[in-house]
Amino acid sequence: MLALGVALVWVTSNVMAGQAQNDGIALARSIESYATAPVPEEAYTVGLLSPGTTAGVSDQVSGFDDLRRLRLWTVDGTLMYDSEADVTGFPDGDRLDAATRLGEPDAEVVTEVRGEEFGGSETTLLSVYVPIDHDGVVVGAAEVMLDYSATAGAVASAIRTVTLVVAGGLVLLWILLFRTVWNASRRLQTSSLENARLALLDALTGLPNRRMLADRLERVIAEARLTGSIVGLALLDVDRFKDINDSLGHDRGDELLQQVATRLRGALREEDVVARLGGDEFAILLPDVRSVADADAAARRVRQLFVPPFMLGDLALHVDTSIGVACLPGHADDASSLMRMADVAMYTAKTHRLGVSVYSPQEDDSSPARLVLLGDLHRALSVDDELELHYQPKIDLRTGRTVGLEALMRWRHPTRGMLPPDLFVPLAEQSGLIHDLTRYALGVCVAQLAAWRQIGEPVPVAVNLSAHDVTSATVVDVIEELLARYDVPAALLEVEITETALVTDPSRVVPVLQRLGDTGVRVSIDDFGIGNTSISQLRDLPVHGLKIDRLFVSDLGATGRRGSEVVVKAMVDLAHSFGLEVVAEGVEDDEIAEALRRLTVDQAQGYLYSRAVPADRLRPEDLPRTGEAMTGLRLPVTPVTRESGTSAQAGHPSDR
Ligand code: C2E
Ligand code: CA
Ligand code: CA
Repeated sequence: MLALGVALVWVTSNVMAGQAQNDGIALARSIESYATAPVPEEAYTVGLLSPGTTAGVSDQVSGFDDLRRLRLWTVDGTLMYDSEADVTGFPDGDRLDAATRLGEPDAEVVTEVRGEEFGGSETTLLSVYVPIDHDGVVVGAAEVMLDYSATAGAVASAIRTVTLVVAGGLVLLWILLFRTVWNASRRLQTSSLENARLALLDALTGLPNRRMLADRLERVIAEARLTGSIVGLALLDVDRFKDINDSLGHDRGDELLQQVATRLRGALREEDVVARLGGDEFAILLPDVRSVADADAAARRVRQLFVPPFMLGDLALHVDTSIGVACLPGHADDASSLMRMADVAMYTAKTHRLGVSVYSPQEDDSSPARLVLLGDLHRALSVDDELELHYQPKIDLRTGRTVGLEALMRWRHPTRGMLPPDLFVPLAEQSGLIHDLTRYALGVCVAQLAAWRQIGEPVPVAVNLSAHDVTSATVVDVIEELLARYDVPAALLEVEITETALVTDPSRVVPVLQRLGDTGVRVSIDDFGIGNTSISQLRDLPVHGLKIDRLFVSDLGATGRRGSEVVVKAMVDLAHSFGLEVVAEGVEDDEIAEALRRLTVDQAQGYLYSRAVPADRLRPEDLPRTGEAMTGLRLPVTPVTRESGTSAQAGHPSDR
């Protein structure tokens, strides 16, 4: 940029100086023509002019203000005239030569110093040798000295101005460019910083995110392996956060998460890492704990942080949390299994409402034996002869007639024999296989209903849904599709949902139940009484019936707890007042059945009447009523498996 500026100034000043000199040369030419007018041609061969001619010349040029001195020379350098009346001067030979030989003026700026002994004064002069020609022949030269101080001054000041303007412009340009470049690079820098920040920090709370936690976890574990220390990991989940979010709005939900983050960060040691894993899930990494008990104690202290209410505007909100704790090397030997174990523990804390739970292998379904079984279950779902539905009748306590069936799954394991659902349903729930299992059960059940419809009028059949099934509406789509495909009325299908499934996440479950109700499928609340729902909470739900848990029912027997009759009576009366049908499960003897009848329970189910059996072993009274025309015609009742479907229908339940 400097070179550009210098070049610019140099070129401009040259042009200006050249222009000024050309003006001077033009003036010198004109002086020459005035001066030589009175000089006869032969005088150029003589030398010094006659006094008359000299006077004539002086007279001719007297009007030129800028003329400081004029001398006339012959071609060979003899002085003819000098305005300062000197008769002995010498020309600048080279310049005189050049001017006379080329026939072109020769100009040069010279500095003349006068009165040197008194400090002197400098004058800038333009000295021009102008060739004198007569009829095309150069006969001599006029040496014209012009006062050039003013011009030189003007040129210099013009050059100064140009220099200033150029320098100013360049500085401005430089500043402009610098600013642009600086801004751009700052923007780039901040955006890459921001990207790096976003990649590792949670935007809402500013806490480390899952990635950063994973990174720290790896490092802490590597250190612990060297030092032999214990690493604790606590996973924390805000209870009912979705409800809070839904009822108070996302802004308030975000505010709550920020406050949770602040409390967590404020309460932990410098070396502990608090991270937000997403949603309402947080993790606390304790890089060095003395024992598992210590990690447990730390988690309990963290839970205490939730005791004071959170202030959201004017609202004081009490929020609880479930924390799962796992340690390395005690429970896991790498980062991902440590995460998984802490997650299992948190799930236990949440489902059993423990607040804090430390990982225990009994709660875990990831032990090797379980994993083998899980693989087997995968396979079982893809073949047709391992999983089957057994049916247990529900008896109307007033009429003694079968008014419904419950479908209960069994697994005919190739090496382990018949497995009850308690051994594989929880496994399916933890591994995500539950949705396939439910789809399977629904498919077989609807196909069986369709088959029964060909011989008569079947009673409704209930299928058990898992808590995982009812958190999304997919299950409703599956049901609708099956009913349509097999042309089975919705009123013949019922679903049972445990009370705990309902209370764990009502904001997600209720809309699903609502949609189910809209399709015409009946909904019953299973295992009622062991959760904490009050019956009045069920009033506003699309629920048709209650199944009183076996625990209460068996208490009605001779050996049961006293006073249980009062509890059951209260349940039944309240349920009836809301229009709910009441079913008692686990009825094993007549005494209990009698008690239930007294308590006006509507239906009973239990070993007293029948165990759950395959379709082809149901008692005649449990099978579809064949009607007047069909009596005596007893059709064979083959159990429907996934493959057999029904002869009248195409496709089978797992086609989807
Ligand atoms: P549940 O829904 O409460 O089913 C009732 C359980 O009590 C059944 O056990 C049944 O065989 C048993 N039971 C019936 N009457 C009596 C009785 O008089 N006395 C006693 N002691 N028990 C009786 P099961 O078949 O082993 O099922 C256990 C649980 O597994 C079921 O409890 C249900 O929650 C679940 N389950 C069964 N099939 C399925 C299924 O297809 N899908 C899902 N998600 N869960 C299922
Ligand atoms: Ca059930
Ligand atoms: Ca039950």
